[in-house]
Amino acid sequence: MQFIDLATQQRRIRKKIEANLARVLDHGQYVLGPEVAALEERLAAWVGAPHALGCSSGTDALLLALLALDLGPGDAVLVPAFTFIASAEMVSLAGATPVFVDVAGDTYNLDPLKLQRAVVAARTSDPRLHPLPETGGRPLRPRAVIAVDLFGLPADYRALAELAQAEGLSLIEDAAQSLGAQYQGRRAGALAPLAATSFYPAKPLGAYGEAGMVFSVEAELDAVMRSLSRHGMGQQAYEHRRVGLNARLDTLQAAVLLAKLDIFAEELALRQEVAGRYTQMLAGLEAVRTPTVPEGCTPAWAQYSLLAADPGARQGLRDRLAAAGVPTAVHYPKPLHLQEAYAPLGYVPGDFPVAEYTSERIFSLPMHPYLKAQDQERIVAALAGE
Ligand SMILES: *Cc1c(COP(=O)(O)O)cnc(C)c1O
Repeated sequence: MQFIDLATQQRRIRKKIEANLARVLDHGQYVLGPEVAALEERLAAWVGAPHALGCSSGTDALLLALLALDLGPGDAVLVPAFTFIASAEMVSLAGATPVFVDVAGDTYNLDPLKLQRAVVAARTSDPRLHPLPETGGRPLRPRAVIAVDLFGLPADYRALAELAQAEGLSLIEDAAQSLGAQYQGRRAGALAPLAATSFYPAKPLGAYGEAGMVFSVEAELDAVMRSLSRHGMGQQAYEHRRVGLNARLDTLQAAVLLAKLDIFAEELALRQEVAGRYTQMLAGLEAVRTPTVPEGCTPAWAQYSLLAADPGARQGLRDRLAAAGVPTAVHYPKPLHLQEAYAPLGYVPGDFPVAEYTSERIFSLPMHPYLKAQDQERIVAALAGE
């Protein structure tokens, strides 16, 4: 049994992928070939965002969005403490300071009330309201919020957008795990004015290598990010208007993604079925808590993650599954504020209790559109110790 089965998907669309790749080999435009624009157009329309910019990874998509906001020293970007490191890492690379915020215990996404306190604390340099990063006495200026749709479940955008508006903050959606998810009738990637997604092979819509995309509402921001992704280029060749990077989307990856996009909606429906079966089968099992899905949300189910009662119980359950030949994974074993990379910010254990509690108990089961009911029965039987 595999944690994510990409081979079954490939068997379904292998011919289409080969035809798409062959077309690129024939036209030879390996960089910014027509497939890149075609993918941008199709995904912008599908997601419901006015602009889409293909780029080299989800991490670079976040970086481009942050660079477009012109951040600098003293600027603070609020980020959940429980997520993949890229969400915070790019804040630092863009020259700003990440201010971590605890997540909600039921959804593992940003808790809007804690976010509100964090914004006020950062603005007034008052660590009694919320644990703040070490800045050597420099005041922080809250500029943006990165909301992560963790495991494919959209964050609470109604509350987040209201807060961002009231506080004058840019809201960025980290939709790396949630492409295909829906929130109150809108699709992930269009839940904030700026959204970054990833086509890393294991994500819901995965390429055969590194790739990502930034969705945006404002034409001006899209143009700036497009320029930034191409060495800050202007209108003419070798005219550079700003310092940028090389973050273009590969034509070959776009060709693969176009083939996968044809079956993506169907795969999302299959993911929904697989997740529904897990939740039903696990309903009577006291040892684990199944995912919470708020009203009006349809997750993309990048992960199906369970919460064990305590760290020892998690290890016991994972051992039992491993003995039955079932792979599991932990997303994520250490919250960001306790990572060595962020030691200079001076956070300590206890700063974000929900992130810490969750990281010690969470684990993910195999999850992909082609997981069969009988395999899920085996997984649940192993979890139950049968
Ligand atoms: C995967 C991921 C990213 C980064 O995407 P890459 O394409 O791997 O660079 C960013 N944020 C989150 C939440 C992710 O899961």
